[in-house]
Amino acid sequence: MKILVSDITDEGLDLEFQETFRSEVLSLLSPASVALRVEKIAAEVLVKGEVNTRVELQCSRCLKNFQRDMDVTVNVVYHSVEELKGEERHEIKDDELDMGFYQGDELDVHELVMEQILLNVPMKPLCSEACKGICPTCGADLNVKPCNCERKEVDPRLEVLKKLLDGKE
Ligand SMILES: [Zn+2]
Ligand SMILES: [Zn+2]
Repeated sequence: MKILVSDITDEGLDLEFQETFRSEVLSLLSPASVALRVEKIAAEVLVKGEVNTRVELQCSRCLKNFQRDMDVTVNVVYHSVEELKGEERHEIKDDELDMGFYQGDELDVHELVMEQILLNVPMKPLCSEACKGICPTCGADLNVKPCNCERKEVDPRLEVLKKLLDGKE
């Protein structure tokens, strides 16, 4: 979806729509529900709102795929490329905002939504905070059961007990 900057009235625009994506890096399990408020301030366009979707990620510890809901808050100010080339006048200054650029009269909302989702994908996704991952030695999934390589340290007192018990049999 694209919007024309000249179509944005003084009252601003409220947009609600669904977007689907094809991406090499991320698979969306459902179309993204998008609700955006678009306002124009001088040559800058302020976009705020919410993007909700469900994605499939790979756990960085156990390497299994898992699903997760994503609720992304959008806060972007778009500067006109032409404006920047010119007198570099910025009406909006806010560190909380992401920055984007539009060219001509066209603002690509589809791209905005995809960018915002990708920005919010964790660098090291975890299927669960408690995920034990895989054993670096044998590759066993430690969430399923612990492997033997983990037990390098055997309590010497248990060794003695084991010998005693073995001797009795
Ligand atoms: Zn995991
Ligand atoms: Zn192991």
